[in-house]
Amino acid sequence: MASESPDTRHMSQQLVREGIAAARAGDVEAARRLLRRATELDETNVDAWLWRSTLTDNLADKKAYLEQVLALDPEHEEARAALQKVLEREGALAERATGAPLYCTVHPERETVLRCNRCGRPMCTECAVRHPVGLRCRECVRATRSPVYDVPLHQVALALAVSTVAGAVGALVAMMVAGIFWFLLFFVSPAIGGAVAAAVERAVPRKRGRPLQVATVTGIVLGLLVLGVGFGLVGGSPVRGLLSVALNIFLWMYVVLAAATATARLR
Ligand SMILES: [Zn+2]
Ligand SMILES: [Zn+2]
Repeated sequence: MASESPDTRHMSQQLVREGIAAARAGDVEAARRLLRRATELDETNVDAWLWRSTLTDNLADKKAYLEQVLALDPEHEEARAALQKVLEREGALAERATGAPLYCTVHPERETVLRCNRCGRPMCTECAVRHPVGLRCRECVRATRSPVYDVPLHQVALALAVSTVAGAVGALVAMMVAGIFWFLLFFVSPAIGGAVAAAVERAVPRKRGRPLQVATVTGIVLGLLVLGVGFGLVGGSPVRGLLSVALNIFLWMYVVLAAATATARLR
């Protein structure tokens, strides 16, 4: 140990300061030299070892310097994290060097070169999902997706039931409005679509997305057809009732406008 005298310790610290200044000025060579001398003067200089580790490109050296820091200060968080990264890179390089093929975690018979960029597991092209930040496995995509868009089947069914009932009421209103003047449907239909979507939102709170949109639009169409069948039953012929609404172009105009509004609201 060459670090007993306070003088050499002081000089070593001075060299570290100069080394850091050189590194900041962009003179990496000079910085390396100064810091090496700092560790030669005082082997217990933690800062000097840490800076040497950040300035070397050699993975083995980096590891040795970081281990030196941790030997002197086992609680050094920064060095521990940096060493962890070095070990991970070593592992990745070793894997590439051995050329050991990767196999999909879900389909062990499929060889692949892809890895999930969140959990790191190998995955085949079928299992890979395009994500805004890269390719990920299905589980990670599911885990990071907002629960608002995860609608269980029973809630989709509930949305369908609610929108069918609301849609039947809406279709009745649309039919009466069309009886006054069909042009009014341009103003009334979006309002009805919004009301159907509001009913769905109340039945399935804090949920949105494609399945709910499809269920709601289906409900609006079914509501109209159910209404037609209902009228038909009163008149003695359900089929004729169904046809009378199914062939009414104004009512389909209502359906399109209402569906557009409801879809936008549940997006
Ligand atoms: Zn993953
Ligand atoms: Zn797979």
